[in-house]
Amino acid sequence: MEQTDRYSAGEALDLRMAIDGKRVEASDRARMTTEDPATGRVIGSFPAATADDVDRAVASSKAALKGAWRAMTPTARGRVLSRAAAILRREAERMARIETLDSGKPLREARTDIETSAAYFEYYAGFADKLQGDSIPLGMDYMSFTLHEPVGVTAQIIPWNFPLTTTARGVAPALAAGCTAVVKPAALTSLTSLLLADILDEAGVPPGVYNVVTGSGSKAGAALVAHPDIAHVTFTGSVETGQGIMRSAASHVASVTLELGGKSPVVVLADADLDAAVEGTLKAIYTNAGQVCSAGSRLVVERKLHAAMMERLVPRAAAMTAGHGLDDPPIGPLVSAEQLRTVGEHVERARTRNSLTIAVGGRPLKVPGFEGGHFYAPTIIDDAPADAPAVQEEIFGPVLTVQIVESAEEAIAVANGTEFGLCAGIYTRNISRAMAFARDIDAGQVFINQYFAGGVPTPFGGTKMSGFGREKGLAALSSYYRVKCVTTRL
Ligand code: NAD
Repeated sequence: MEQTDRYSAGEALDLRMAIDGKRVEASDRARMTTEDPATGRVIGSFPAATADDVDRAVASSKAALKGAWRAMTPTARGRVLSRAAAILRREAERMARIETLDSGKPLREARTDIETSAAYFEYYAGFADKLQGDSIPLGMDYMSFTLHEPVGVTAQIIPWNFPLTTTARGVAPALAAGCTAVVKPAALTSLTSLLLADILDEAGVPPGVYNVVTGSGSKAGAALVAHPDIAHVTFTGSVETGQGIMRSAASHVASVTLELGGKSPVVVLADADLDAAVEGTLKAIYTNAGQVCSAGSRLVVERKLHAAMMERLVPRAAAMTAGHGLDDPPIGPLVSAEQLRTVGEHVERARTRNSLTIAVGGRPLKVPGFEGGHFYAPTIIDDAPADAPAVQEEIFGPVLTVQIVESAEEAIAVANGTEFGLCAGIYTRNISRAMAFARDIDAGQVFINQYFAGGVPTPFGGTKMSGFGREKGLAALSSYYRVKCVTTRL
C-alpha cells in the first residue's frame, strides 16, 4: 500500500459544520485545514465559522431546548443516549483511526478514547430520568418541592489533546440533564466532534440538540462564549484562555466550568512498591506524549529511592521509539509544530539558563519516513529545584521533572508547591501516610498506588489555577441543572 493510503482515513469525510440537523459551510465559505501531526501533511479542511454561524447554531440549540428535546420524556432521552453509546462502539475502529490521524496519538490510546466516549453516553443515559428533586417539610400549611431544570444552551469548548473524549465528557451529562450543546472543537482536531453529529443523529438526537461550529478560538470560540443565549460554558484548555472565557461569560452571567491543566505530582515514598511506581510514573508522563492536563509531570521522590527510580526510568524512557500513531508506537508526535517548539524551548531553558541535568531525551526526534512529523524525545530533568520554571510551568509534552525530598512531610509540601492543583499520585505501602497525603494535597483527584486510577464515574476537576467545577461522575450533572423551588400556601 502507498504510504499516503496507509496513513489516511481511507474514506471521504464530510467535514462541514453540524447546525440544526444539517451539514453546512460557513456563511462566508471560508475554510481551515487540519494536518496529520506525524507527517505534517494536510488531511482535510473544515469551515471557519463566522459570528453569524455561531448565532444560527445557538438559535437552533435554543429552539431544540424548548422544543423537541423538552418534548421527549427523560426516559426516552436516556434511551437515545444509550443508542449513541452503542453506535459509537460500532464505529469505534473507524473513529479511532480518524482520531489518531488528526491528533497524532497512538492507535491504542485513540481506541481507549473512543471507548471512554461511549462510556460517557452510557453512564449519563442512566441519569436522564433520575434527576429528581426533594420535598421540603414546612408544616401543615405549605407544600414545597424542588425541580431540577436544565440550565439551557451550553457551550462546550474543546481542547486538542482529547478531542472526542472531552466532547463526550461535557455533552453526555448536558444532554442527560435536558440541556442542548453547541460544541467548538479545537481547530487542530475538529474531525471526531463533527463525525459525532452523524452518530447522535442516527441515535435519534433531534436537530439542534448537538450543534458543532468549527473554526478559530479567537473568532468562533469567542463569539460562542459571548453569546447572550449561552447559559453555561464548559471549557478545557489553557489558563489564559480560561480566564478570558470567565470574563466573557460574566457579561451575561453564564456559569462556567474551567479545566485548566496542571503540574501534577507523582509522589514516591521510600516504602513504595518500586515496580508499580516506575510503571505509574512512565504512564503518568508519556501517555499522549505528555499532552494531558492530568499528566503526572513532576516526580517527587524520597532520597532513598531516587537512584533506584532513575536507574529504571532512564533506560525505559530512552527505549521509547516514536512513530506514526497508526503504527501504534510507544510514543506519537506532538500535535503541532508550535507545540514541538514550545516544548523544546522549555527544555532548552532548563538546560542552558537554569543548568539543570537532562538525564534522558531533551531533543526533537527524527523518525525515518516521517521527517515532517513533530516528534520529541521522552525527557527527564533530574534533581530540579522547586522554583525552576520547568517545575512550575505546564510544559504539555513528554517532559518529567524530578524533585528529591527527605521525608513524607516534605513530599506533601513540595507536591503542593505550584500554582496548580488538578491531580496528585502517591506510591506508599503505608495507608496512614497515603490518607494524610490525600487530606493535605491541593488536588481534585488523588491516585493512591496507581496513577490515573478511576474513570468516567470519578469526579474530576481542579483547585487553584487548575480551575473549578467538576466533570465526570454524578458531580458533573450539577453544572447542567438548576434547582427551582416551588412553595404553595394551602
Ligand atoms: P487554548 O486554551 O487556547 O484552546 C483551547 C480551546 O479554546 C480551543 O478549542 C480553542 O479554539 C478555544 N479558544 C481559544 N481562544 C478562545 C477564546 N478567546 N474564546 C473561546 N474559545 C477559545 O489552548 P491552545 O492554544 O490550544 O494550547 C495552549 C496550551 O494550553 C498548551 O500548550 C497547554 O499547555 C494548554 N492546554 C491545556 C489543555 C488541558 O487539557 N487543560 C488542553 C489543551 C491545551
